[in-house]
Amino acid sequence: MLTVNAYAATSATEPLAPTTIERREVGPRDVLIEIRYCGICHSDIHWVRGDWGPQTYPVVPGHEIAGIVTAVGPEVTKYAPGDRVGVGCMVDSCRECATCVKGEEQYCLRGNTLSYGAVGKDGALTQGGYSTHVVVDQDFVVRVPQGIDLDEAAPLLCAGATTYSPLKRWGAGPGRKVAVIGLGGLGHVAVKIAHAMGAEVTVLSQSLKKEDDGLRLGADHYRATSDPATFDQLANTFDLIINTVSGKLDLGAYMSLLALDGAFVTLGASSEPVISMPTSAVAAGRRVYTYSLIAGIRETQEMLDFCAEHGIGAEIEVIPADKINEAYERVLASDVRYRFVIDTSTLA
Ligand code: NAP
Ligand code: ZN
Ligand code: ZN
Repeated sequence: MLTVNAYAATSATEPLAPTTIERREVGPRDVLIEIRYCGICHSDIHWVRGDWGPQTYPVVPGHEIAGIVTAVGPEVTKYAPGDRVGVGCMVDSCRECATCVKGEEQYCLRGNTLSYGAVGKDGALTQGGYSTHVVVDQDFVVRVPQGIDLDEAAPLLCAGATTYSPLKRWGAGPGRKVAVIGLGGLGHVAVKIAHAMGAEVTVLSQSLKKEDDGLRLGADHYRATSDPATFDQLANTFDLIINTVSGKLDLGAYMSLLALDGAFVTLGASSEPVISMPTSAVAAGRRVYTYSLIAGIRETQEMLDFCAEHGIGAEIEVIPADKINEAYERVLASDVRYRFVIDTSTLA
């Protein structure tokens, strides 16, 4: 066992605090990663605060992990010490079911193992990236290409994968109009990726406060959803709407913005039921409503390669570990530009 420094939540209501945790010995197919940076995803906050139901504590959150390989097991073929790597939301899956075989481990029919708060095959609770080291099976590690700094790469491991997957699946590209609701961690990466894919991108934000940033990140248009005229003027416009809002929305109003056969993809993981809308909101224009969950490992690597090719990293505010609780409050207040990233050397 390796004892490493970490930051953990001890209950749904207490602030996160420094602690130490045990990492397993490096197994034959394992990679030991010295974590350099870990992004703070809104899902970390949902998780530790019990928004998705009661959790087991203490839990070390963090699934936007970027670091350097420092040791590998004897059967590891994909990585070597010194490699720049990342780990996202999953550290294992059954690898045999129909969806795992397709490389869509996020939909593993037997349930995958999340990077924190899940019971791994060894029976231990997984602990995430707000720590200095992690041991992960090589099949759930991805390579961070040269050309993306590790701090700006970290948020791509969740925010990048989660937005790239539906943008690709639903055909964001030249001649397609894509709207992104919410310019936060996921939203700002979605804007960059959709723009790089060649789509015409509109940000739908609560206000115009971040308009300059949105346009700089690659949006063609920026509209405030607090202005009712936005909904009148943009009715029947978009081929694809990516919803990154962490809370509930008036779904019917947003669905009316889709063009014929347009798709509305929710990524936000509100604790409240999200699907409540009049039938006409989907019936008019044969509209599709769906949800998308992170991305498989293969697609996560594809996303990183795409981001490197297009010079895409996250816009980040790097913080020391003792600012994690403050960062949580700022995320909850939509006061983040656009991802907090923990410098894990401050845990040492
Ligand atoms: P975030 O940084 O907090 O961004 C969410 C954005 O939504 C905010 O910046 C804000 O943008 C907007 N927003 C917040 N509250 C709102 C409200 N009440 N009404 C309208 N807009 C609101 O969060 P994130 O890390 O991007 O995560 C977003 C959501 O996705 C979370 O629920 C998270 O758990 C979920 N998530 C899902 C997956 C998946 O696999 N599907 C993966 C990762 C995260 P504006 O200020 O521009 O309005
Ligand atoms: Zn996440
Ligand atoms: Zn499976």
